[in-house]
Amino acid sequence: MDKVSSMRQELIEQLFPSEPAYRRKQRERAFFDAKIDGWAGITTLPKLERQTLQDKVPWISHQLAKLITSDIDDTTKALLQTLDGMYFETVLLPNARGAWTICVSSQIGCAMGCRFCATGAMDFKRNLTVDEIADQYRFWQQHLVKKLGNTERISNVVFMGMGEPLANYENIKAAILTWLENTDLGPTHIIVSTVGLLTKLEEILIDATWPPVRLAISLHSADSVERQKIVPSSTPDFLTKLADWSHRYAVNLGNRRLYLTFEYTLIAGVNDSLREARVLADYMMTTAVRKINLIPCNPIDGGDLAGSDSNNILAFEKILLARGIDATRRRSFGGDIQAACGQLAGSAS
Ligand code: SF4
Repeated sequence: MDKVSSMRQELIEQLFPSEPAYRRKQRERAFFDAKIDGWAGITTLPKLERQTLQDKVPWISHQLAKLITSDIDDTTKALLQTLDGMYFETVLLPNARGAWTICVSSQIGCAMGCRFCATGAMDFKRNLTVDEIADQYRFWQQHLVKKLGNTERISNVVFMGMGEPLANYENIKAAILTWLENTDLGPTHIIVSTVGLLTKLEEILIDATWPPVRLAISLHSADSVERQKIVPSSTPDFLTKLADWSHRYAVNLGNRRLYLTFEYTLIAGVNDSLREARVLADYMMTTAVRKINLIPCNPIDGGDLAGSDSNNILAFEKILLARGIDATRRRSFGGDIQAACGQLAGSAS
């Protein structure tokens, strides 16, 4: 099992090797208090400790390099620089609940290489630490306070930014548990979107500490050969194994089966034919999953793929609905600022 990596906690443990466990809890609670914006504000800590922390430990694990807001909706994208000088992106978007959703990154770059994805076109650089993941919530919380005051709320978190979250299993799990403990986020308002790393999906089935969050598995094709062309990390037996896993997930995790969905990026002329829709419907009948999100492919710089047109999407959706599948279309946000699904790349230029 990988170890949780937290630069901040490691630094603090070097400074205060024998501090009681409740101190860590005090700090973590303060991190997510929108009224506190520095070590000096954690008045539950002894004054000397606050001073030492202020001098030696960064309050947040990344700093803002660039902020850009969409002209067509309220989506905002931030380019963040880590303490070791690397860059990644994170996105804030308005949601139907009158609150905000944050789309967080889990890695810098990604090894999965999905054909339609700007992150996949980058080399994999490294996993984000638990601090760097959890602090994306803190970054946006502070941003909202400064811009709109204390009344705004982050109600949802989606792991749909840069990286394959299950390839950074321990750190994303630790970040989710931190949010669940220190914010008002509920587990069913957190979505972990994955290309479907089978070894990690199996781990979820036996991991008693895995939180009851929603899982969204990106299919992109229910034809093995075609899927491998879109998701190069896929294997010939992936779809069969995934179907088998989904039934065990439904049995083992009871109600959580309701929170398991598929995602399907519709790429014009690649995976959006009516034949592909029928193959998908047939495949879904072999799984325990009856819900799918259809996402028109968003164009990326230098890419040659385009999203399906709306008539095609409608016809594709109709075939699924006729088979009793709960198919919905995901609205894209922030397309004009390269902040929509598949468009994050984290360049400093
Ligand atoms: S879609 Fe997700 S898993 Fe695929 S390359 Fe992009 S970031 Fe990685």
